[in-house]
Amino acid sequence: MIDLKKANVRWNKDDYVPRKVSDFESKPAAGEPREIADTFLKDNKDTLKISCQLSDLRYEKISRSLGGCAVLYQQHFEGTPIHGGWVAVHIDNKNQVFLVKNDTVPIDKLRTRVKAKKAAALPENEIETTVQNFIKGHGTLNTEIEKEKVIYPLKGNLQSAWKVKFGTENPAASWILFIDMATAQIIEERDVLRKLNGKGKVFKPNPVVALNRDDLNDKNDLDQPEFNAAYKTVTLKELDNSGNLKGPYVDLTSTKNYAKAPDGKFMYTRGDKHFEEVMVYYHLDTTQRYIQSLGFSGDKGILNRPIKANAHGIPDDNSYYDPSPKKKDLTFGDGNVDDAEDGDIILHEYGHAIQDAIVSGFGQSAEGSAMGEGFGDYMAGTRFSDYKKGDRKLRVGEWDAKGYGPGEQCLRRLDSSKHYPEDMENECHVDGEIWSACLWKVRKLLGRKKADTVILESHFYLNQYADFKDGAEAIIMAEKNIYGGKKTSGLTKIFKDRGIL
Ligand SMILES: [Zn+2]
Repeated sequence: MIDLKKANVRWNKDDYVPRKVSDFESKPAAGEPREIADTFLKDNKDTLKISCQLSDLRYEKISRSLGGCAVLYQQHFEGTPIHGGWVAVHIDNKNQVFLVKNDTVPIDKLRTRVKAKKAAALPENEIETTVQNFIKGHGTLNTEIEKEKVIYPLKGNLQSAWKVKFGTENPAASWILFIDMATAQIIEERDVLRKLNGKGKVFKPNPVVALNRDDLNDKNDLDQPEFNAAYKTVTLKELDNSGNLKGPYVDLTSTKNYAKAPDGKFMYTRGDKHFEEVMVYYHLDTTQRYIQSLGFSGDKGILNRPIKANAHGIPDDNSYYDPSPKKKDLTFGDGNVDDAEDGDIILHEYGHAIQDAIVSGFGQSAEGSAMGEGFGDYMAGTRFSDYKKGDRKLRVGEWDAKGYGPGEQCLRRLDSSKHYPEDMENECHVDGEIWSACLWKVRKLLGRKKADTVILESHFYLNQYADFKDGAEAIIMAEKNIYGGKKTSGLTKIFKDRGIL
């Protein structure tokens, strides 16, 4: 028998049960670990204040390690396992018990507090509905659903609950839910899939900005020493363990001969075709996380699913978002400078995907499609402004533009002075500068975070035929709804000066 006075003890203060006992005197015992642990528990049941029958501690398994092994028992009550009710007896290589962990729940507590006895339990089909509703918001079911009754300690009560296990894909997850048997409410949800944080090299957002140089030359994707200082090593979050660039918000596996790295190390330079895949993964994943940090998460999420992206989809110098119902994916082209080598282009295309996620078919009018281009440019500008110095903050696609000649500064700017309607040219990218210039002024007035929030929110007030005037009014409404309308007059002035309101 162990002497608690001569041992190191940590107590469970609620139940006054010793929950961890170590550093006690112990002699080598004969027999298999299971026999040693059984005998130890029999001898020390009272000392350890284990108040249930030992037959209610059901042997579960032995877990072996270098220093010995642990024999694990799960506590049951009237045949039902108690979530978290475990006993572990640890035995070293000399067959001495050196540690015991005791998370049993006292039997009198179980007798008085196990709630929702059989009579109160809801029929199983209500539990089924809860599970199905949960799955609807979390991808597609791709396993059997396993169910088991447990007793779940919750806020001092012991609730009868279903422990439900299943897997989903898009996004990949392995779920354990605990569902209250009396109310069919989820009391705990956990994704136990082990996700891998990978590593990769990227430009933030492109080499022109990273090196602050205008004299760089693509040289047909050649690795050149002057680019070395432009690479940043970054974390690629929550890769799904397939060894691919596939996570909760981005999926690069539609790229031909896509990158594979089971160790999660995607360390390429621009001469390697896989470099652009890492660029797309990193910049889209971090942008989606940023959008969520603004509050657009959970049931208010925007595009919080793995969008498919092909980093080398076409040989042309062009990229696109395809809004057709079965696609809704991104394609980047390789003409001149690879488009996915410039973070600005990646963000611009994601802008189209965001708008389509909020308003399916956004941009049916000429002005709407100009708003699409302007919003994409704004997305690139607002995301990467911190990396850009001086006038570069106002330029979009500086690296991609080098494909048109060494003297080209950028694809488009965020500070156009063009006025509506007389400066409209009926080309959506050109006219988009009218819209992006308004958005950039909104950002100056509200600050980055508030402007990004208001501009994203404003899309929820639009439909697919929205024009500039609708867009301007939606921004004013969004600021009113979220921040109380303090900037209504300032916002109105921005759009009045431009000729839109
Ligand atoms: Zn576009």
